Amino acid sequence: MFFGGFVRMHILYHTVKEPIFGVEMMEELRRHGYDVGPGTLYPILHQLEKVGYLVSQGEVVAGKTRKYYRATPEGAAALDATKAKLRELVKEVIDDKPPKPSIKSDQPKDSKSRAKPSPTGDSA
Ligand SMILES: [Zn+2]
Repeated sequence: MFFGGFVRMHILYHTVKEPIFGVEMMEELRRHGYDVGPGTLYPILHQLEKVGYLVSQGEVVAGKTRKYYRATPEGAAALDATKAKLRELVKEVIDDKPPKPSIKSDQPKDSKSRAKPSPTGDSA
């Protein structure tokens, strides 16, 4: 499922960076415009844990046990594999550059003359 894929990708991305608990993840997803409730999020978390992409650890915070999720090396590898596909998708959909050159060659070949600055701008 398309939507579920984005949610999973997002969960992996954040859990690779730092351990995150369910409510925090829901708030993060909402920030991105995904209205994901516990009935949707927790089954995804449990599924990712079951396949070995996430590990969870209970931590007592203010008298309540919070279950923190963190990506395993397998989860990080799965994210990397997804990144490659995502990059290709972004290239085609956002930059309008299909991965294979068109058979028709009636387009001006000026790709070398206009070098674009780094899209991320991380020159520092
Ligand atoms: Zn995010």
